[in-house]
Amino acid sequence: MSARILVIEDNLKNIKLVRDVLQYAGYEVVEAHTGEEGIKAAARCEPDLVLMDLQLPGIDGTETLRQLRAHERRHIPVLAVTAFAMREDRDRAIAAGFDGYVEKPISVRAFPGQVNGFLERNAVT
Ligand SMILES: [Mg+2]
Repeated sequence: MSARILVIEDNLKNIKLVRDVLQYAGYEVVEAHTGEEGIKAAARCEPDLVLMDLQLPGIDGTETLRQLRAHERRHIPVLAVTAFAMREDRDRAIAAGFDGYVEKPISVRAFPGQVNGFLERNAVT
């Protein structure tokens, strides 16, 4: 069974790229364009992994994560997808409770491997 990945991202170009790359790699992709939508989608589809843009209209990625964590029935790994390459921003994402991060723009070649590596490290055995 292929892993189901929820992508929460407001930029339609970015979400298309992420979706295409992940679907090509064999993942099932669920999309949400706002944090509020993402929280509902997570409850509905029980994703194996969430990729979260930090800058979203309405509630931002960090607040979305906080609300997801408050409602989740089991720990869902959540990666911050961030355009910030600054070390302090990455540290802030980890401190906010993200399980890791991926830098934007994503590398089409490296991205499926990054996601797969992360899923394997977090696999429930
Ligand atoms: Mg954004």
